[in-house]
Amino acid sequence: MRIALHLRLAATYVAVSALALGIGGGLVEHRVADQVRDQIAQRLRQQARFLASELEHSAPDAADADAWADARGALAGARVTLIAEDGRVLGDSSLSPQEVRAIENHGTRPEVVQARASGFGESMRFSSTLGQDLLYVAARYPGGVVRVSMPLDRVTRAVTAVRGTLAAALVLALAASLVIAYLTARLVTRPVEELTATARQMAQGRFERKLSRHANDELRDLAEAMNQLATDLDAHMTSLRDEGARLRAVLDGMAEGVMVTDHDGRIALWNDAFGRLFQGISPAGRLPIEVVRSAALQDALAEAAREPAPVAREVTLGERTFIVRLARIQREVGPSERIVAVFNEVTELRRAERMRRDFVANASHELRTPIATVRAAAETLLGAGDALPPELRRFADMIHRQSERMGRLVDDMLRLSELESSYRPSPQSVDLAQLADQVVAAARARLGERAPRLELAIENGVRAWADPAAVEQILTNLVDNACKHTPEGGQVSVRARGDATRVVLEVADTGPGIAREHLPRVFERFYRIDPGRAREQGGAGLGLAIVKHLTVANRGEVAVDSQIGKGSVFLVRLPAAKAARR
Ligand code: ADP
Repeated sequence: MRIALHLRLAATYVAVSALALGIGGGLVEHRVADQVRDQIAQRLRQQARFLASELEHSAPDAADADAWADARGALAGARVTLIAEDGRVLGDSSLSPQEVRAIENHGTRPEVVQARASGFGESMRFSSTLGQDLLYVAARYPGGVVRVSMPLDRVTRAVTAVRGTLAAALVLALAASLVIAYLTARLVTRPVEELTATARQMAQGRFERKLSRHANDELRDLAEAMNQLATDLDAHMTSLRDEGARLRAVLDGMAEGVMVTDHDGRIALWNDAFGRLFQGISPAGRLPIEVVRSAALQDALAEAAREPAPVAREVTLGERTFIVRLARIQREVGPSERIVAVFNEVTELRRAERMRRDFVANASHELRTPIATVRAAAETLLGAGDALPPELRRFADMIHRQSERMGRLVDDMLRLSELESSYRPSPQSVDLAQLADQVVAAARARLGERAPRLELAIENGVRAWADPAAVEQILTNLVDNACKHTPEGGQVSVRARGDATRVVLEVADTGPGIAREHLPRVFERFYRIDPGRAREQGGAGLGLAIVKHLTVANRGEVAVDSQIGKGSVFLVRLPAAKAARR
């Protein structure tokens, strides 16, 4: 149950006042009772002494004793009893003569015993004769003991009267304390209520109201602290709003579509570009899959939620292609559904690439036949032997060499565009030792005298999981390059090693090496380090591009390490056969 603070405070005040007044009243009552009893005792003592001194001078006869007691009792306003030396009751103002005769001996009454011994005695007890509490005072005189007594109901009456007054005072005091307590409690709680109201306003983001300054007490400190809090919060909120506006401007200024999901995986924030990319359905509060219907995106979202590193995917939606980059917002351990995804539309780029590929493929294809015809014609001419004058023979030879070179170039270009558009590897277990043997033997046969020393170092049983034709082509291109660049007396080594998951093919030479600045680019198509020399050697800069393409298509990667003057090492990593089949 909720009880207001001021009521609780007031109730506490009232309870404390009631307790204090109750204790005070009790003490007063007790004191009054004592006082009245003392007064009665005082009076009885005086009367007893007075009567004893009277009896010393003239004591009544036994026959007149009761009448004497009655007369003195009426005068004193008290009960007067005359008791003989032996304890017999001679007269009593409260009793008739008959009753006096019948009454028991009073010689053992404590006040009588005391008076006989010391001249004076007092006692307070219940009178069996009168049936009420009495205060007795006895004094000795030569013929016996005179006793004056009075009922204590006088004390009770006085106390009752005092108690009534006290009760009335108590009620008045309580009523007053109730009012005072309520007012003081309100005084304390009103500032608290004001604090509460202001705090509520702050919670709603309204910081304009400041707390008034109260008396210099703890509440004032609290009010000052809250005012400070409001000022700081206001400043923070303003800077947050600014930040939000900046973020909005940045997002809406972007050409890429941006979407951010919340804890529950639903879209919480997106920019104009995203809205334009996926028109027709409002992203607010929807799951990304409802707006961008792509299983690939769904996979990428799940992966981004698991992985701490950003994820990039190419996502195709009908005619359109996007590169989507996804990153988890929280970087702490464990998955998070809060992901930011950036959609970069590459439809046009992909179309242009496709057109270029098609053009290269078509042009190469068209060039093949005329080149073959020219080469055949040159060969026929050369076949004529001495019938051809030496001058013409030189030209025929030149035509033959250049047409061969053109043929190779066109073949490479066709190969590459094929790789780029339609190549799908059919992987199987490839015995690298066997394959390297073949490739090296073919190179020896091709180069004859010009072949450098060719060394093979293949770990036993190393098997790659790849397309055998692709691996053969890769190795052939690398060995050809190595032979081409290795001077006389040099050496080319083909090495292979592997573990449970990967195999590594290495082709190392002792040629001139490749300068550092060229290393990142040697795998690009048409990239040649020394165009003039390369052209002489018949290279078009396509060999390594084909190597890279084939390797990547077979789920591998390429790398090169080289030092000028020492030689180069080309590395091809491919999945190992055992692991791939598992
Ligand atoms: P190309 O068919 O013209 O040789 P590649 O793509 O095979 O083209 O090679 C690209 C460039 O890298 C070439 O210009 C060549 O000079 C250089 N290159 C390739 N292999 C080696 C090597 N083993 N040592 C030094 N340079 C090399």
